[in-house]
Amino acid sequence: MKKITLLFLLMSITISAQTDLKIYDIINDISADNIKADIKTLTEFGTRNTFSDTISTTRGIGAARRWIKAEFDKISSNCNNCINTFYQKDFVSKKGNRRVPHDAWVVNVVAVQKGTKYPNKYIIMSGDIDSRASDTMDFTTDAPGANDNASGMAGTIEAARVLSKYQFESSIIYVGLSGEEQGLFGGAGLAKYAKEKGWDIIGVLNNDMIGNIKGVDGVIDNRSFRIFSEPVPANETDNQRKMRRFYGGEVDGISRQLARYIHKSVKTYMPEMNPMMIYRLDRFGRGGHHRPFNDLGFAGIRIMEAHENYTQQHQDIRTENGIAYGDTFEHVNFDYAKKLTAVNAITMANLAWAPASPKEVAIGGIVEAAVKLKWSKVDGAKGYKIYWRDTTSPTWDHSRYVETTEFTLGEIVIDNFFFGVAAVGENGHESVVVFPNEIMR
Ligand SMILES: [Zn+2]
Repeated sequence: MKKITLLFLLMSITISAQTDLKIYDIINDISADNIKADIKTLTEFGTRNTFSDTISTTRGIGAARRWIKAEFDKISSNCNNCINTFYQKDFVSKKGNRRVPHDAWVVNVVAVQKGTKYPNKYIIMSGDIDSRASDTMDFTTDAPGANDNASGMAGTIEAARVLSKYQFESSIIYVGLSGEEQGLFGGAGLAKYAKEKGWDIIGVLNNDMIGNIKGVDGVIDNRSFRIFSEPVPANETDNQRKMRRFYGGEVDGISRQLARYIHKSVKTYMPEMNPMMIYRLDRFGRGGHHRPFNDLGFAGIRIMEAHENYTQQHQDIRTENGIAYGDTFEHVNFDYAKKLTAVNAITMANLAWAPASPKEVAIGGIVEAAVKLKWSKVDGAKGYKIYWRDTTSPTWDHSRYVETTEFTLGEIVIDNFFFGVAAVGENGHESVVVFPNEIMR
């Protein structure tokens, strides 16, 4: 009995040394009622099709985006103007675009909470403003898009409400993207804008459908969710691809490391949840708004429910053969949307309180019984964590904390594991793990 108590005591000491109690406050602060109210409001714009009315104050995407901007402005006025909100827009024309019914501006709503220490480093959380009916070209029929994707949009607004009560070292951007359903236009526009502005993006957490717990397969599950991540960057060079054949990295691109970071944050702070690491950019043959960011070399991932219901997405509201089609308000599970919003919020808080990742990480140890690692010093880091894992494991399972910028892991053979290095701040928050990008001979 005594032994067990001691063991528990030891366990709780190790755990508390790695956790930040503020993260639990953030989880508790996320409100299912706020998310519910915001999804309701968004569905009441009738349709939010990107090509719908922009003049009306009650119907169409124009009214919807003005309401979203006003919400972010309201949040900002409650935090001493800590959030700067603006529209970012790009013109799309009918010509050459199969799914564009007429020329229009694709308008995103961007809300920036500047970091105190690294203002040019950004973590982005996105949801979508737009919705669609059965025919994506149909911009007048009602398309409430409650789950797809008012849920992601409402979660993004709610994350801003909660995180705006804190100050972070890096910047956080909350964004409503548009034009998703016709070709990922809004994400492409913002990714290009970010590149032009030289934003140093730590990661993009794209939320698309975070409110359905009852799958078309009959499974009901309010704990599981998916993190989609791309294995290697889409814009890698031929040389990087060649090097990978000799030194590894087939499942260790920056998008995948971000996914692992989310997985770890959830396992640490929300152990009741079941995050699924999905080893693909997106669902089979389907798309989402993280992709245009990945296209430009940024680390984007998609957070999404585990069980979709296809009778409730991209469908006109109707009853057919006893099945009620349509993406309507009453199908959304607000407590589940709250949980996935919390997943985003704690990931962003952990990242925005952490130092940057080491830029260069070198590895060596060919025909030796030890692994040598050396990395560039990170401003604001107290120490570093060397991580390793079996080559078949999806997560970084082993680690060693050090306060130097080089280290030799003795009696470990390089061939049998994958390795990476993260920076750790004075406050204990960690950066994303970096897979080695240099070889030591
Ligand atoms: Zn959709």
